[in-house]
Amino acid sequence: MADIIQLLPDHVANQIAAGEVVQRPASVVKELLENAIDAKSSSIKLIVKDSGKTLIQVIDNGVGMSPTDARLSFERHATSKIRSAEDLFSINTKGFRGEALASIAAIAHVELKTKMEDEELGTQIDIEGSEVKSQDVVVTPKGTSIAVKHLFFNIPARRNFLKSNTVELRHIIDEFHRVALAHPDIAFTMHQNGSETFNLPQSNYRQRVVNIFGGKTNEKLVPVDEETEVLKISGFVGKPEFARKTRTEQFFFVNDRFIKSAYLNHAVNSAFEGLIKEGSHPSYFLKLTVDPKTIDINIHPTKTEIKFDDEHTLYAILRSSIKHSLGQFNIAPVLDFDRDQNLDTPYGYKEKSATNPVVEVDRSFNPFQEDTPQKSGGFAPSHRKVPAAQWESLYVGLESRGTKSIRDFSEVEFESESKSEELFSEDTSLDDKKTTYQLHNKYIISTIKSGILVIDQHRAHQRILYERFLKHTTIKEAVSQQLLFPLQLQFSTTEMEVIKQLQPDLEHTGFVFSQVEDTTVEITGVPINVPESEVSIILEQLISDVEQEVPDSSFSATDLLAKSLSKSLAIKRGQTLDGMEQEHLVNSLFACKEPTVSPNQKTTFITMRVDDIDKKFM
Ligand code: ADP
Ligand code: MG
Repeated sequence: MADIIQLLPDHVANQIAAGEVVQRPASVVKELLENAIDAKSSSIKLIVKDSGKTLIQVIDNGVGMSPTDARLSFERHATSKIRSAEDLFSINTKGFRGEALASIAAIAHVELKTKMEDEELGTQIDIEGSEVKSQDVVVTPKGTSIAVKHLFFNIPARRNFLKSNTVELRHIIDEFHRVALAHPDIAFTMHQNGSETFNLPQSNYRQRVVNIFGGKTNEKLVPVDEETEVLKISGFVGKPEFARKTRTEQFFFVNDRFIKSAYLNHAVNSAFEGLIKEGSHPSYFLKLTVDPKTIDINIHPTKTEIKFDDEHTLYAILRSSIKHSLGQFNIAPVLDFDRDQNLDTPYGYKEKSATNPVVEVDRSFNPFQEDTPQKSGGFAPSHRKVPAAQWESLYVGLESRGTKSIRDFSEVEFESESKSEELFSEDTSLDDKKTTYQLHNKYIISTIKSGILVIDQHRAHQRILYERFLKHTTIKEAVSQQLLFPLQLQFSTTEMEVIKQLQPDLEHTGFVFSQVEDTTVEITGVPINVPESEVSIILEQLISDVEQEVPDSSFSATDLLAKSLSKSLAIKRGQTLDGMEQEHLVNSLFACKEPTVSPNQKTTFITMRVDDIDKKFM
């Protein structure tokens, strides 16, 4: 039989390697920026067009390349950074695999211009899909400029796989931040579609953090400094009260390289234990310096993960030095995490005009009847003491289900601890007694003709709010409440991008913006039901949701906004609801178009049929 194995031609091998190195425009940005740093540049400029889909260019003032090196740099495994396998154990450059330029040139049009300091003239090379189109002598300043155009031009499948411009730009900015944070001693600028989005002068680390994340960041930072034999830590953590819903301000750098480490992240979180509320994340910008021999960064082509020889020690040192800093700067008072109760009564109550207080007389009260305390604790029976007329509106949409059925609920089947009198009463007389129960402050129990309903209060409320927000945004008739004083909020440049993008939709839900500029948002009106104190958290959550969303063709900003707002504002599990609230929730849920699932398609309620219950007693 004939031999069938063939060596792949270089350009095919390069394309395959490119798949590993270049996942998206941001990967190119990372490789080019890192090369510029390795070339000892003091000033680096990044230019992108169409979120990198049309152009990614990095211009540096580094050492440049000789004509031969310029040509060689596009060969696979061509690197000036290591000479032997030994060198792998003491790497202090960003790159060392010699794959990036070869990979990029395999899947894009690349134009390289480079000149070394002492040379008169430089070199220009044009490559398209690994094929050298031209090499010329050019006049060009000291340093290197690499322009990458038409990324994935020869791999349409990959091109089509790219996400929306917003998402790809987000990834690019993330990479830019990571590299710029790791190197405050280098000046960086970034231009997107012709306008400057970042201008970061050479500075110290604190200034770099502030330049990237906005002026308000300064007051949030607590310095962390520690030097031990195995590890040096420097940088900042955010004060606990500024903990965020998002993880976007969490950075570890090990030997000036951005890395992700769930383990070290855990160490930081544990230092903040008890200081921030659940679901919030501390900001941190931490630089760790270790002996390169004690780490292995060669485990992934994109090199954001890392292996430490002695993780446990690092964990302990990191945790204790952060604790120390928080203590030293007096940042560990007992914080009051109680939620603003206003947020938790999101129903129409606040829209309603205040009602005169009434003295309620419980005519059925019998002082001689023994009171039975609720031993179960988790059960909060509700008593309907509200005049029925006031609640008529609640039943809209419920007619078909029959309001009567809601009332023929016999609690005796639930609670053996109920008053003994009730245990034997006829279940027809329940008109002004409890019709819903709250179980463990998370489920509402109610009845239907065929049995009982168990409703997840959080999901149900999310569904209700979601449909309300969707309706408001689509018919553009939201009601907003005017704020007495405009609310000024600060955001980072990237967060501002998201807000600008969502501004029209936000306005349709009832937000009124008087200013959206630079890093400042000024709000003069908010949707009804949105407490002023929660506005910044809500917007942060929204930004985080947009960042985590991987939009596809069906992506809808309106939908995302409605989902995010409903998630932020929905009553939480663990919150006690009184009888009226419980009923309102049940009724509003069944007035929804799609009551069965939450906006994220999770079950909102389950039913238990009497038949099934009967079976359990057989
Ligand atoms: P690596 O960075 O792993 O060495 P690359 O493919 O990224 O591999 O680059 C190949 C080589 O090209 C580098 O080792 C370096 O010598 C040279 N090079 C790349 N970019 C630059 C630059 N901006 N300035 C100077 N030399 C560069
Ligand atoms: Mg490189």
